[in-house]
Amino acid sequence: DVLNKIIDTKGSIRVFCRVRPFLLTERRPVLEPVSFGPDNVVVRSAGTRKEFEFDKVFHQSATQEDVFGEVKPILRSALDGHNVCVLAYGQTGTGKTFTMDGTNEEPGLAPRAIEELFNEASIDHTHSVTFTMSMLEIYMGNLKDLLSARQPLRSNDASTKCNLNIQVDSKGSVEIEGLTEVEVPDFTKARWWYNKGRRVRSISWTNVNEASSRSHCLTRITIFRRGDAVGSKTEVSKLWMIDLGGSERLLKTGAIGQTLDEGRAINLSLSALGDVIAALRRKKGHVPYRNSKLTQILKDSLGTRSKVLMLVHISPRDEDVGETICSLSFTKRAR
Ligand code: ADP
Ligand code: MG
Repeated sequence: DVLNKIIDTKGSIRVFCRVRPFLLTERRPVLEPVSFGPDNVVVRSAGTRKEFEFDKVFHQSATQEDVFGEVKPILRSALDGHNVCVLAYGQTGTGKTFTMDGTNEEPGLAPRAIEELFNEASIDHTHSVTFTMSMLEIYMGNLKDLLSARQPLRSNDASTKCNLNIQVDSKGSVEIEGLTEVEVPDFTKARWWYNKGRRVRSISWTNVNEASSRSHCLTRITIFRRGDAVGSKTEVSKLWMIDLGGSERLLKTGAIGQTLDEGRAINLSLSALGDVIAALRRKKGHVPYRNSKLTQILKDSLGTRSKVLMLVHISPRDEDVGETICSLSFTKRAR
């Protein structure tokens, strides 16, 4: 396949790092454990110094706009027919949800990306472009539809579909059986659905942080692009925006029972994701997609013809240094 050769795999996987600022409630250490260059991160702890390289590093002062600016080119690829994955990785509390969702005042990547897709579509005078949206949560290997609930404010709403199955068609395209896919005619409607999905995700948990630490939240925008010339075929591509479960090692935090099982499930799927990305970087050999639901779902979007952007989030705090090194090492494999 000529296209496969043109698109260099190495160039199709990018890894960025973002460190969150100290919160108002946090004490800033005299010697900060994490320091930065334009494309490297240095961690100092207990007399050791470790350095990690990235395609791009966002310091504490980076704005949501700065981050979005670096992600924008990949949206062009999605509109040009490539499957694209943007993944937020990191320990709980390091800013994954802030980067992906943001706040009303400082919207994150997902709302900005969706708005940008509509803007780009409106100025494309040679194609008609339409979008659909789906959202799901993966929790302990179960797939839950976040857009099917009729009454998203009730936690036990029976219209929320769970335990969905993954199907792969003869062309290698992945589908999730029965997953709600809504047409989104404009940005306002898309944002409405997005917010609904986020709300459904959070209400089934006693607190939001719990949800984000032990499950993955996936948003999929499917792009349908058809040339205006008679007989033009419709091209279909997917943009995935993924807020991954917390990467912290729960065994070390003394978690027990259910919490420990949830942590194990997250750790297993994150390491399966790391294995897939590492195999893709090596450019040959078997790519082990089958080892988790997460990688099965992303099989057609984490490959030689797709674009992957991993945003690794780290904490600036002394007490998180161990986890920070783990997160940075995880991506060493990915780069
Ligand atoms: P995670 O989703 O990784 O668990 P959150 O996104 O919930 O982490 O972030 C934890 C806290 O830090 C939140 O209060 C969030 O608003 C704040 N925060 C994270 N990143 C930033 C940032 N870049 N600028 C300002 N506040 C941030
Ligand atoms: Mg979160």
